[in-house]
Amino acid sequence: MTDCLFCKMVAGEIQPDIVYEDEQVLAFRDINPKAPTHILVIPKQHIATLNDLQDKELAGYLLQTVAQIAAIEGIAETGYRTVINCNNEGGQEVYHLHLHLLGGRPMAWPAG
Ligand code: AMP
Ligand code: ZN
Repeated sequence: MTDCLFCKMVAGEIQPDIVYEDEQVLAFRDINPKAPTHILVIPKQHIATLNDLQDKELAGYLLQTVAQIAAIEGIAETGYRTVINCNNEGGQEVYHLHLHLLGGRPMAWPAG
């Protein structure tokens, strides 16, 4: 997708603050962090929303990658939150699937 912000990051046209990368996923720091640790984990393949995620293996891989990055960031034991915003009422702003990894402070519940 030529017009997608996160696809431009995958293509190297925009350089985010990358914390992890492999063949399938890219993870980088959120530009407007909502917690001391706020990382976005995205599939390199353009998938617009969670509703469009059909690849179960990739779905599991994304979750495992979030947990691995939490360990690398040193928040696996203290705890963290993973969020996927889907579509308008879910608060999605960028229409390329991404998992938020938030940690480094206590999280309130329910989420806003
Ligand atoms: P969402 O509301 O779930 O679609 O989240 C989109 C996230 O992308 C927000 O938390 C933004 O702060 C973040 N974001 C937008 N532009 C950039 C960028 N250039 N680099 C890193 N994060 C970004
Ligand atoms: Zn994209």
